[in-house]
Amino acid sequence: MKKPIIAITSDSLLEPSPIINLNLADFAPRNCKEAIITAGGIPLILPFPPDISMAEEFAEVHVNLFDGLILPGGPDVDPTLYGEEPIPELGGTAYQRDAYEIALVKAAVKAGKAVFGICRGLQLANVAFGGSLYQDLKAQNPNVRLKHSQIAYGAHPTHHVEFTVGSQLEKILGSTTSYVNSRHHQAVKEAAPNLKITAYAEDGIVEALESVEDNIVLVQWHPENMWQIQKEQLKLFEDLVKRASKED
Ligand code: MN
Repeated sequence: MKKPIIAITSDSLLEPSPIINLNLADFAPRNCKEAIITAGGIPLILPFPPDISMAEEFAEVHVNLFDGLILPGGPDVDPTLYGEEPIPELGGTAYQRDAYEIALVKAAVKAGKAVFGICRGLQLANVAFGGSLYQDLKAQNPNVRLKHSQIAYGAHPTHHVEFTVGSQLEKILGSTTSYVNSRHHQAVKEAAPNLKITAYAEDGIVEALESVEDNIVLVQWHPENMWQIQKEQLKLFEDLVKRASKED
């Protein structure tokens, strides 16, 4: 069987790096690339345009190049995209990347491509389809009782999540719970109309969204940092490859 092409959107260095002769660079997480390959897909890295007026054009062309799409982690989503002014606790944002990824995820869903979102990717997809976020959990959600911005080594799981019975995630991971890492200071406030909340942390923070109809699975944790040690996390990438391989 032909291996599906799994695209990853890229991040961009904002400061010159001595590692690459002070050049700026666009890049994607290597452990995401390796997870795609290990899961049976062919990875493809997609750059965003420098000008938001080109976001739609890039998305329209790029959507024809892949079978499945990973929206990886990265900076905060610009709150103006869900109708809010920025609070002081908001982190760094990248408006060009926001505009491109919103156009791309919409184009991907329209074209029936499989989508998998990680951390910022979950938040971005939620905003793209009409949901909203807590700009900062500590500042805006008094119910938070867990450390969601772990200081522990990034691959190390630090809190549990519980899946809705009958959800895609329960089927993919074969369990109603998972022990996951947590490196987010933002989280879902209102889920988009097409996305179902299918995992919570113990303090009620949303940890996953999905839509069977739209072929979308979104997680708030970082399975790409975990799968080499916590093998079951590779199943999320294998599921994406499987969803991307379906004939339409
Ligand atoms: Mn968390």
